[in-house]
Amino acid sequence: NPDASARKKTILKSDTAKNIARIRAVQRQAFDAAPYPVWETRKTNLIKLRDVILGHEAEFVKAISDDFGHRAAEDTIIAEFLVMQGGFSHALKHTPKWMKTRKAPTALQYKPASNRIVPQPLGVVGIISPWNYPLQLAIMPLIGALGAGNRAMIKPSEYTPRMSALLKSLLAEAFSEDEIYVATGGVDVASAFSELPFDHLVFTGSTNVGRIVAQAAAKNLTPVTLELGGKSPVIIDDSANLDLTLPRLVNGKLLNAGQTCVAPDYVLMPQNKIKGFTDAVIKHAETLYPKFSRNDDYTSIIADSHYARLQNLLEDAENKGAKIQTAGDDDKQQLAKERRVAFTVVTNTTPDMKIMQEEIFGPLLPVVASESLDESLAYVQKHDRPLALYWFGEDKNKREQVLKESHSGGVSINECAWHVVQEDIPFGGVGPSGMGAYHGEAGFESFSHMKGVFIQSRFSQGKTLFPPYTDKTRKM
Ligand code: NAD
Repeated sequence: NPDASARKKTILKSDTAKNIARIRAVQRQAFDAAPYPVWETRKTNLIKLRDVILGHEAEFVKAISDDFGHRAAEDTIIAEFLVMQGGFSHALKHTPKWMKTRKAPTALQYKPASNRIVPQPLGVVGIISPWNYPLQLAIMPLIGALGAGNRAMIKPSEYTPRMSALLKSLLAEAFSEDEIYVATGGVDVASAFSELPFDHLVFTGSTNVGRIVAQAAAKNLTPVTLELGGKSPVIIDDSANLDLTLPRLVNGKLLNAGQTCVAPDYVLMPQNKIKGFTDAVIKHAETLYPKFSRNDDYTSIIADSHYARLQNLLEDAENKGAKIQTAGDDDKQQLAKERRVAFTVVTNTTPDMKIMQEEIFGPLLPVVASESLDESLAYVQKHDRPLALYWFGEDKNKREQVLKESHSGGVSINECAWHVVQEDIPFGGVGPSGMGAYHGEAGFESFSHMKGVFIQSRFSQGKTLFPPYTDKTRKM
């Protein structure tokens, strides 16, 4: 694998299975000695983390760009730093409220006893993150874990060694290893990491590796949050305003050159609209990116293996009769040299094409002919439940039908991907696109034990439930 040898040169000294097992034990010991960090402690940790990460924006922009070959600075600023800023400020504002013991109703027959729910930190949270947004996908779960009063270990992707090195050194300066630890290394370390008896494990990555991680965690009965991928559909209704739809769709697709878990994967629309849509969407992409090579606004594909994978998807589709239309008039060799793929629309698609079977994770947009909303919903329901679904239109009845009759982790209406940055709603997948959720209060609850507590009253009449049983108790 040519990527592996290139990465080896820059990769950090790898952690060992023995060392990460030791750190987990040290973290758990420290947690047990101080099992309920008060808000002041959590706040100090969140602020320290915020300052150390947000205070090194320029270094992270450079490290991530070097890892990608080229990563548009704005892709990092918008999709990593703005997201984290939102996460930090929301957690700092609301965690004291989330930490509070919650009163719960008590059924009449148990009164005057009372019920409550006590949120309690779990202990040590493990976080395995992918390469596509390597910083925020490590830090957003960490915000939730720290806010909930836990200690945490992170295993970033081996595809982003420079980002990992920077993150490791900054966090090691700010936190002791029994608070936060960054483990580095390849798949062997990731695999050993997933086998540790964490109190909770968050995995963000592909569905296939998610299955392996869930199996490893099951051996310890470690609860998991799985943030996986999938093919997120876009349904464009007749009632959609195309002037608004196209920029939002193209932006959602071309951010990070399509290497986004919630990127629109394919479009469903009536056959007679496809030609007009394809021409307009290509034209729109060219207004955003007049060139895809030699353009600092456009991000490269992370590695040669992924570049080859995308070329292969196109070749396979073309061999099976698809029509390929590419935006820009870039020199192919120059694109390849920069590991860039120009925005490409694929029409005349059929289900046997790999591009219609695998998550694309790049700037290729296949279009599927679908003559009605019912047909589009049937198509979506027949396939694996995706991480996101996008519907463009103004017809409110159809919108409600989409929300009720389709399954996906989340939805943005008349927009792409923005539901992900709303800290007031949960973010997560469903079925093959994941389980569990985080961001905001959902993250706080995922990384807490929401302990149910019953408090008996000294005035309770419950004595009738004890033996020796009488005819009266038997009738109850
Ligand atoms: P990946 O599954 O290849 O790797 C993710 C992480 O898992 C890496 O840190 C890697 O080291 C680790 N890993 C690899 N093999 C492992 C093993 N056997 N045991 C334990 N850990 C192992 O994913 P990727 O290529 O880095 O990321 C792309 C995928 O992630 C896409 O499918 C994308 O949709 C998904 N994703 C999902 C979200 C989300 O929030 N749901 C966000 C970003 C990416």
